[in-house]
Amino acid sequence: MKTVDVDELRPSNELTDIGWGKDPLLLPRQAIALISDHGDPAAEIGVEEAGGQNVYVRQVGETLATLGWQVDMFTRKVNPNDRAIVQHSPHCRTIRLVAGPEQFIPRDEIFKYMPQFVEAFEAFRLQEGISYPLIHTNYWLSAWVGLQLKKLSQIQLVHTYHSLGAVKYQFVPDRPPIGSTRLRVERQILEQADCVVATSPQEEESLRALVSQKGRIKVIPYGTDVNNFRIIPKTEARAKLGLNPTEQIVLYVGRFDPRKGIETVVRACAESKAQKVGNLRLAIVGGSCPDRIDGQERKRIEQIIQEVGLAQRTLFSGQLDHSVLPLYYAASDVCVIPSHYEPFGLVAIEAMACGTPVVASDVGGLKFAIVPEKTGLLVPSQSITAFAAAIDRILADKWWVKQLSINASARVREQFTWARTVSQLSNLYQCLLAGSVNSNF
Ligand code: UDP
Repeated sequence: MKTVDVDELRPSNELTDIGWGKDPLLLPRQAIALISDHGDPAAEIGVEEAGGQNVYVRQVGETLATLGWQVDMFTRKVNPNDRAIVQHSPHCRTIRLVAGPEQFIPRDEIFKYMPQFVEAFEAFRLQEGISYPLIHTNYWLSAWVGLQLKKLSQIQLVHTYHSLGAVKYQFVPDRPPIGSTRLRVERQILEQADCVVATSPQEEESLRALVSQKGRIKVIPYGTDVNNFRIIPKTEARAKLGLNPTEQIVLYVGRFDPRKGIETVVRACAESKAQKVGNLRLAIVGGSCPDRIDGQERKRIEQIIQEVGLAQRTLFSGQLDHSVLPLYYAASDVCVIPSHYEPFGLVAIEAMACGTPVVASDVGGLKFAIVPEKTGLLVPSQSITAFAAAIDRILADKWWVKQLSINASARVREQFTWARTVSQLSNLYQCLLAGSVNSNF
């Protein structure tokens, strides 16, 4: 099948006949489920494996509820002290299912617990007397769950990959033992889901080139909260954070994961002109746990920082909440995203929404978010020299930066708001359910 165009798909009369298109808040709510095996929407973001997927599911779920849906978001319980149900708003909640030990388990080791996840999901659903005619799964592990649930009952299945093994394995030296299962499930979900949501045209291209020609794809990008991520005067942001008003601040925000390429930004900063004149500050935002993979990566990065002589010029802020992150973006002269690959890259649009120019790797969804020379710069991933030159170009030209800043925030407001993302998702769900109304309702 071809890429789906929702506007063409939607039979407008049919939608009106079944009630959609009227004030959603006055209608009985349609329950839907979002499944995010490891990306707990109620978790703290920015530590270990909690990143963009958690933000996406939470924002999508909460915003869908404001559009009139009844949203249940399912995830795996990773701590016995965590609440089983977290109510985010009257019509949106996170439900933590017990599937395997109630502890953190790296993504590549979770698959064996997914049959338990399916059982726990069904048990919860029966106990509550709910049926979910539409399920939106996130990441390949949840895709497997969705495919099993589709065998059990007639559901509309929507999937977002967030990360694609078929692309990722091109960049990592050792494919994990679960790799072939992941690739198989990634193909099955594309061919068997009712619709796959790609978050950028680049992801759609990768899916067609590397996964399958079959299956329906709709491109619906990630969004960001433009009320939170907004332009704040740099002097004000630095004063609030106690940062030096005259330094040139280079910012990295994200998890400590080797594929995020933090080493590149560190080495590029060491080569930059700003460092040579002694005016550079590298701010690294993101959490880590000493005994886990992100703790090991942080240690490795600290060693490189020592080795290149940046120890006195680097600030590690640790994990930060979205309530304070806008100040960091606004206080910085440039935000660097040196990922080896990046399915979308929420950090790019958060920085841009705050009017901060971005220097990023020329990969994946970053090529979609950033318009080179207009909102930032794209350079070959892992090229220290290219990153250093791009950082220097931005730090050297205040007038150009003003233009980049205006363009960047305008682009996010036009293209990448959660309101826009979720209204497209909501339309897609409506279309899919309308298609099944005749046969199933
Ligand atoms: N993040 C955060 N606090 C931190 C570090 C990161 O809230 O200390 C958030 C960041 O703001 C963004 C998300 O984590 O919303 C990272 O998403 P992205 O798509 O850039 O990368 P991913 O983690 O999904 O690979």
